[in-house]
Amino acid sequence: MDPDLEIIKQKIIKCTKCKLSKTRTNSVPGKGNFLSDVIFVGEAPGKNEDKNGEPFIGIAGQRLTQALENAGISRESVYITNVVKCRPPNNRVPTISERNTCNEYIQKEISIIKPKIICILGNTAFNSILGGSEITKYRGKIIKKDKQFYFLTVHPAATIYNQELITVLKEDIVKLFNLIRELKNGRQILVDIDYST
Ligand code: URA
Repeated sequence: MDPDLEIIKQKIIKCTKCKLSKTRTNSVPGKGNFLSDVIFVGEAPGKNEDKNGEPFIGIAGQRLTQALENAGISRESVYITNVVKCRPPNNRVPTISERNTCNEYIQKEISIIKPKIICILGNTAFNSILGGSEITKYRGKIIKKDKQFYFLTVHPAATIYNQELITVLKEDIVKLFNLIRELKNGRQILVDIDYST
C-alpha cells in the first residue's frame, strides 16, 4: 500500500465530517491496486459494503467483477472506490452536500494513483465528478477534462434489474481496457467530449 493512500484510508475510517458517519457501521475507503491504470468510481456503499468496510462486494460488486473477468482483468489488479465513502440510510442517493464534503477523499485518491482513465459507474458519479447526467446516453464515451481521461458506463447495480445492461457493461469494460492498452502503447485515443477549457 502506498503510504499516502494509507493516510487517506485512515482519515476516511475516522471521518465524522458529515452526518452519514452517525448511521454507518463502517466507512468504505477505496480498495485495490494503487498502481492501477484505472480507478472505478461508484456512488456510495450499500448494505454489504457498510457491514464489511469494502467497496463493491455485494451483488453490484459481483456484476462488476464478472464484467472485469470477461475482459480478462482481475479485480485485484484495479482500484475501486466510491464518490461517497459512507452508506446513506436506506441506500438513498447521497445529497450534494454529502458528496461535496466527501470530495476531498476521491480527489486525493485520484492524485495519488494518477490513473490513465477514470471509469465512471452510473449517474451519481457522472454528476458528482463531471457535472453530467443521462449516463445511458453517454455510456461508452470518453471525456477529457483538465488532461484527465474519463470513461463512462452504467452502474453495475443497474444490470441487476435490466439483464440487457450486463451485456452493455461487459462491452464497455472490454472497450475501456482496449483504450488503456492504446494509451500504454503511447497511442492517441479518440475523445468524444472535450471539457477542457
Ligand atoms: N454501489 C455502489 O455505488 N458502490 C458500492 O460500493 C456498492 C454498491
